[in-house]
Amino acid sequence: MIIILRSNSSDEDISSVEAKIRDMGLEPHVSKGIQRTVIGAIGDESKIDKEILEALPCVENVVRVMKPYKIVSRDSHDGDTVIDVGGVPIGGNRVQVIAGPCSVETADQMNQAADAVAAAGCRLMRGGAFKPRSSPYTFQGVGVEGLEMFQNAARKHNLPIVTELMDVRMLDTFLEHKVDVIQIGTRNMQNFDLLKEVGKVQTPVILKRGMSATVSEWLMAAEYIAAAGNHNIIFCERGVRSFETAYRNMLDVTAIPVLKRETHLPVIIDPSHAGGKAWMVPSLSRAAIAAGADGLLIEVHPRPAEAWCDADQALSPDQLNTLMGELRGIAQVIGRDL
Ligand code: PEP
Ligand code: MN
Repeated sequence: MIIILRSNSSDEDISSVEAKIRDMGLEPHVSKGIQRTVIGAIGDESKIDKEILEALPCVENVVRVMKPYKIVSRDSHDGDTVIDVGGVPIGGNRVQVIAGPCSVETADQMNQAADAVAAAGCRLMRGGAFKPRSSPYTFQGVGVEGLEMFQNAARKHNLPIVTELMDVRMLDTFLEHKVDVIQIGTRNMQNFDLLKEVGKVQTPVILKRGMSATVSEWLMAAEYIAAAGNHNIIFCERGVRSFETAYRNMLDVTAIPVLKRETHLPVIIDPSHAGGKAWMVPSLSRAAIAAGADGLLIEVHPRPAEAWCDADQALSPDQLNTLMGELRGIAQVIGRDL
């Protein structure tokens, strides 16, 4: 940590900052310039609250040297982490497409969706049984029954399932239903109690980016899960809030190379909630794979116009099939499989 003092700081000020640094368990190294004094604080700064130093009247600025996230940081792990989801690797050379409806509706709908997902060559399936809807008067998801319908449909094709957990009280139910990947939605990215609880299990977690979260906040949210013991984390960019109203969210493709540099964990893209329209999904998906995403989370419905939730952004089975063909070509060009 580097502490820059105000230009008029006295020797007494310097001594008081040095004492504070020692109190915090770090070792101060004073460097006096003509105009400014800078103090380097050496030691483990990860648990230090820099505001304590910033609050001292003689301190102008405090700069951290270490990253505030450790376990998820690339510094802690050189290679790319590959997460095993029921035998399907996420984060390796193979790009994985997780497809399925926004929400679980009926057994028939899930069976048809699973057939379509498997036929298109996807190896994992998505579907929400509990839905975080903006309005309390809209469909909220079919609940626990939905987990059963989802498992019955997906197991026929050996597709591991991805489904959103909103309430910490449902975690045991998710484990009993053998949910393969717990999705933490954009609205819960900073629900720290929820993050701590999913950190206590080993089920892989897809952590969606908060709709207005910075990359650093997102990494810190992942660190909450990792610090509690679960290192099986997959980042999912799903578009951020912006000034633009022509689409639902703005897909932050830049986050892909930035995250790949900052973390060893896999990074996937949700083009469906980014664009918000089915016709945008192919372009955004192609861009994501070309930019280095490890996978995609795509909404598909046997009859999109009849979907109970997010109908406008769901691909049809045929559209998914065509898209998978295109994505295979892009993956090949960049030396990956799909
Ligand atoms: C979803 O995946 O269905 C969903 C609600 O996503 P998000 O949390 O990104 O809005
Ligand atoms: Mn949706």
